[in-house]
Amino acid sequence: MAWKRVLITGAAGFLGSHLTDAVLAEGAEVIGVDNLCTGSLENLQHLKGNAKFTFQQHDICHPFDFGEVDYVLNFASPASPVDYMKLGPETLRVGSDGTVNALELAKKYNAGFLHASTSECYGDPEVHPQVETYWGNVNPIGPRSVYDEAKRFSEATIMAYQRYYGVRTSMVRIFNTYGPRLQPNDGRVISNLMMQALAGDDLTVYGDGAQTRSFCFQSDLVRGILALAKSGEPLPTNIGNPEEWTILECAKTVLDVTGSSSKIVYRPMPQDDPKQRKPDITKARSILGWEPKVNLREGLEMSMDYFKQRIAQAAAAK
Ligand code: NAD
Ligand code: UDP
Repeated sequence: MAWKRVLITGAAGFLGSHLTDAVLAEGAEVIGVDNLCTGSLENLQHLKGNAKFTFQQHDICHPFDFGEVDYVLNFASPASPVDYMKLGPETLRVGSDGTVNALELAKKYNAGFLHASTSECYGDPEVHPQVETYWGNVNPIGPRSVYDEAKRFSEATIMAYQRYYGVRTSMVRIFNTYGPRLQPNDGRVISNLMMQALAGDDLTVYGDGAQTRSFCFQSDLVRGILALAKSGEPLPTNIGNPEEWTILECAKTVLDVTGSSSKIVYRPMPQDDPKQRKPDITKARSILGWEPKVNLREGLEMSMDYFKQRIAQAAAAK
């Protein structure tokens, strides 16, 4: 059944704003809710005057109801390690109180619900690639725990609303995703490396750069999320690009794609930084027929203009 009115938390963020565009393109009305703690209204600027979109500035840790909806996409949460370590208690609260408030809304209106979970639920994984049935290896008291444990609590809460109240819930475990609208200063590896390469600054690689990540372009992720939401699959599902890169290889690819002559410099490895990460996407392939289409080189090329604009904006503001 086609959606009529969808509420998206975290709509002013990188992923929330792309999801907003995708849901509007399907013809539904969208209510975007965001407290702007890490997001930006610039990501929604192009929707000014769109009668099908309304924005509500609100912290979802406090209960909310902006009228009946038939689907809730819960994407509000600081997401980059720099942001969630700065906003530790806020991150725990949005994963707990915020998730409960979003679930209460879905329960009230008998709406479907999809939550943005994360590969970080697997922590520093001992199983490789990570399959959904793996329970993870998370340090519950380390600096990343404000995010990891918040997301694990969200998953447990969602399962409880499904089991006890019959709310129709889904969860996507998102692996590192990038593209235009990534906040240029939130410290994530692709935004850091692209901004550094295009500005002619040194590229910072943490540790020896041998740790791995698997990078998914935003349009592939958004397509997977919408397919998952519509499938109604109740258990967590990985969506990510299984092509695995060392961070050093990633930095060299950024230099190549941007044509930059910047140098690579090495900086200390942050505590509890996962050594390897790669999604097993067998489940998404089989239940959704989903497959990523954009490889890292192509995705970086498609992101280049955006990062160039951000550098120009920063220079103009000086
Ligand atoms: P982002 O920081 O760009 O967006 C998050 C948005 O949530 C921001 O606009 C922020 O202002 C908003 N927000 C935070 N706390 C809020 C609160 N209490 N009330 C209302 N709004 C609040 O990050 P993103 O990359 O777009 O991430 C979106 C979601 O996807 C997050 O839940 C994140 O954990 C998840 N995720 C993202 C990735 C990724 O690689 N991008 C990977 C795994 C999971
Ligand atoms: N990283 C890096 N240089 C940077 C930013 C990050 O080498 O300027 C590394 C970081 O240590 C991690 C990987 O890149 O191993 C991905 O970091 P990010 O913050 O993007 O996300 P994470 O997957 O750790 O949540």
